[in-house]
Amino acid sequence: MKSVQHWINGALADGDPARAAELFNPATGEVSGHVALASAADVDAAVAAASAAFPAWRDASLTKRAGVLFRFRELMYAHRDELAALISAEHGKVHSDALGEVARGLEVVEFACGIPHLLKGGFSEGVSTRVDSYSIRQPLGVVAGITPFNFPAMVPMWMFPVAIACGNTFVLKPSERDPSASLLMARLWQQAGLPDGVFNVVQGDKVSVDRLLEHADVRAVSFVGSTPIASYVYATGTAHGKRVQALGGAKNHMLVLPDADLDLVADSAVSAGFGSAGERCMAISVVLAVDPIGDELVAKIVERVAKLTVGPGDDPRSEMGPLVTAAHRDKVASYLDLGVEEGAKLVVDGRETPVLGGGKAAETPGFWLGPTVLDHVPVGSRTHTEEIFGPVLSIVRVRSYEEGLEVINGGAYGNGTAVFTNDGGAARRFQNEVEVGMVGINVPIPVPMAFYSFGGWKSSLFGDTHVHGTEGVHFYTRGKVVTSRWLDPSHGGVNLGFPTNG
Ligand code: NAD
Repeated sequence: MKSVQHWINGALADGDPARAAELFNPATGEVSGHVALASAADVDAAVAAASAAFPAWRDASLTKRAGVLFRFRELMYAHRDELAALISAEHGKVHSDALGEVARGLEVVEFACGIPHLLKGGFSEGVSTRVDSYSIRQPLGVVAGITPFNFPAMVPMWMFPVAIACGNTFVLKPSERDPSASLLMARLWQQAGLPDGVFNVVQGDKVSVDRLLEHADVRAVSFVGSTPIASYVYATGTAHGKRVQALGGAKNHMLVLPDADLDLVADSAVSAGFGSAGERCMAISVVLAVDPIGDELVAKIVERVAKLTVGPGDDPRSEMGPLVTAAHRDKVASYLDLGVEEGAKLVVDGRETPVLGGGKAAETPGFWLGPTVLDHVPVGSRTHTEEIFGPVLSIVRVRSYEEGLEVINGGAYGNGTAVFTNDGGAARRFQNEVEVGMVGINVPIPVPMAFYSFGGWKSSLFGDTHVHGTEGVHFYTRGKVVTSRWLDPSHGGVNLGFPTNG
């Protein structure tokens, strides 16, 4: 049985012994250990450590900070298998997928290694007579990251490499469902030479989130999770005077125009719908099939789904693992009956899917549900509009490009979307007209590279700054403009007039 603690000021910390939660192996359903749940006092200890570490880290040279990041990148890469195994054991995703999230997170570390360049300001010589102006960006102080269960390494890495590179100190509050990756990353930071107190981890639930949101010494909060909590975090954090970026849930549509390559579309829809058991904020959950290709496309999707191998994340044969908890599996599975009640046709029932080493998904111990396909899902039904966050792919039939676009733009979320077509003009029109933050053209999961920024629109993001990339650098720094004059004897004396250029 493992016991997952906090990481405060460069060491493991037990925290309040009265509060803990169970950890599970999603592939068997068995309890695998416990995670500490921080009290307000535990959060205060982490913030105090981060506050104490801030002055020296802020003053560390850019090259010194970059050097630590380069070493952290090498250590993370060397330990990627160990990290992926920790993720897979608690989240359930297959090992290769966990390796993929580590790789995508490392791209942000690599981006942040360029911090000496990223923090360059502007300089204008001679804005007035013998007067120069220049801009600089300075770190905020202690900043916090609150992250979801579905990417226990990558989503924290959207935040802390950039925050720390900018000279801030960081408190991470990972998901209490898969917390172990955070502690390995903390140890690797220490090995890389990061001073104690610059990176801290508090394990926990709402108690720790609320304390971080209220704490006067926390200057900014980055949050990624479901929309109701993102909205709460944004409202509470900003009410306490903090800078907040809060990324929420999603319902991503793939619009398939009749001229698209349907084999490519079917491969893409199955990969993007069922990878990581659909527990990705950029998963495709709705395919909008423009007439007349619906029947042919559904047949191709069903043919591919039948060949998927579902099994434990540590079995190299598995392509899709279990869901994260029993409660989440039950919630996702409830949409199968709901979808049928609402008028959809259940063409693949994931409860019947065979599991490697077990029987049908519904009868195998562990949190199993196989890939499910619902066809003819009515527009506006709960199955169509609500975030299911599991291996359920809905097919919605539409008559035209315009109708498909209206369905997408009529939704509450605006995280990701994709159009599949061979018509460049139609694709260009789509990228211009769709009200979504991240758009794929013949790319089903258009997650931006680290040197762009990641974020959705509408209920998928509260705040105005996306994560990582240059927007991340902006979020974790404050701008300052200096106007300087070195006087000479002819400075002109007292002048009460409004300063103008001359
Ligand atoms: P969640 O909202 O339940 O939890 C996210 C974080 O908030 C966790 O650290 C959790 O401990 C904390 N939390 C939970 N309930 C809270 C409460 N009542 N008060 C304060 N804090 C609370 O999300 P999840 O189930 O861990 O993750 C899945 C969700 O995250 C999905 O909705 C998914 O779309 C979303 N997500 C979004 C993105 C994105 O980039 N937009 C990326 C990944 C995941």
